[in-house]
Amino acid sequence: MEEETKKIIQDSLDALYEKKEFLPDLTGGVRTQAFNSLSAIISTPNNIHKSFLRVPREDGTIERIPAYRVQHNDSLGPYKGGIRFYEGVNEEEVVNLAFLMTLKNALHQVPFGGGKGGIVINPRNYSEKELNIVSRKYVRYFADVLGPDKDIPAPDMGSGEREMDWMMAEYKKIHHGKPYLGSFTGKSVVNGGSLGRREATGKGVYFTFRYMIHDYVLAHKEQLENSVNPFSKTALEHAERPLKMAVQGFGNVGSVAALEAYQCRSLNNHVIAVSDRNVTLFNENGLDIPSLVAFTSSNRGDLPKDDAELGKSGIQAEIRGRDELLTLPVDVLFLAALEDQIHQGNMEHIQAKIIVEGANAPTTRVADEYLDNQGVIIIPDILANAGGVIVSYLEWLQGRETQYHEESEVFRLLLEKMQETMDTILPQYFGDPYPLRENCFIHAVQRLSTVLHKQGKLY
Ligand code: GLU
Repeated sequence: MEEETKKIIQDSLDALYEKKEFLPDLTGGVRTQAFNSLSAIISTPNNIHKSFLRVPREDGTIERIPAYRVQHNDSLGPYKGGIRFYEGVNEEEVVNLAFLMTLKNALHQVPFGGGKGGIVINPRNYSEKELNIVSRKYVRYFADVLGPDKDIPAPDMGSGEREMDWMMAEYKKIHHGKPYLGSFTGKSVVNGGSLGRREATGKGVYFTFRYMIHDYVLAHKEQLENSVNPFSKTALEHAERPLKMAVQGFGNVGSVAALEAYQCRSLNNHVIAVSDRNVTLFNENGLDIPSLVAFTSSNRGDLPKDDAELGKSGIQAEIRGRDELLTLPVDVLFLAALEDQIHQGNMEHIQAKIIVEGANAPTTRVADEYLDNQGVIIIPDILANAGGVIVSYLEWLQGRETQYHEESEVFRLLLEKMQETMDTILPQYFGDPYPLRENCFIHAVQRLSTVLHKQGKLY
């Protein structure tokens, strides 16, 4: 596990211990022992599976592609988490992401544990047929450790419905006769997926921001006005005026979050910049997000990357350098690309006072601490981007019952769950000095420790 993550875990555990909220019924040495056990359990994954997928390329060559499935903890339910198709994937990163899934599920009371997969591949360099082979081989190599009651993968960066459909088909072939609909989530709707799963993460990201900074703040104005916590001041300053927003990443999460922001006319907010792997698009008066979504869906997911493409699209915007987006003078920054985007090198130039983590781990620990001290509100990944796994849970349940919800019902259940989590976290957050990430970690770890204790695992 990365040093940074270890440090965050330790800080949160210490805070939990200090707050006397860690198993308050235990005392003395027994409590210390339980605490040490908890700390050991959390900082190490249960299993790390690694394989090299042998993939015949269309040009006749053979490649051995490294692939991982990390199972962090399954005390709260079967392991759950996406499979990332990305060339920068490494073991440590997958371990970290699996750990975050354990906390994310614990925080939102989703009855799953935490897992994550990774395949070291740039999917853009592979044909559809080759990707099909990669996906099927992944399932074949890890077949024994996956399953609806063991470990349930889902899409992550670089993968989507198509890959989940292929993977479930392979799983079904291998385990014929056994239930298979719940073996993968994020499948296409005709193949047993849930309506609304594709939009779930982006919708949840925007909702988290809106509920927290607008609805909740206005409903608790007096409490926040009397609070000495610097984050309360930041929230109050942003609750009632039109805000300028920038969205980093225009994939499945960023584009949906941007669209939600665009459509939420009542708040009069403007998305003035979006970026992808090539460029930033900027328009001081607000970008036409629906046209950008339409453009990307017919352009392999890419935004217009030069003046010629921009001209053809008819979209009014200026093209800027890709990373310029992060330091623009905006109020809110949605991070929906990769990890480690805000770091020591750019943290001092960040102008946004609210950062929403649609991606997993996009802020490094040093930057996190620095921005916390500036009173910047960072809405952390495990709180903001849980929409995907929450609807995955609904998909898994629907698959078991072979009964499917309407899209509106899926979104209702999704937002209800996210709101429920915020309603438990926010009173404490706006009242005590801990940043939101630590608050969320503390809540998640507390839930996990109660269950581990009941299961007799903290000796
Ligand atoms: N990959 C998504 C995440 O990081 C979704 C996981 C899932 O649906 O299991 O939360």
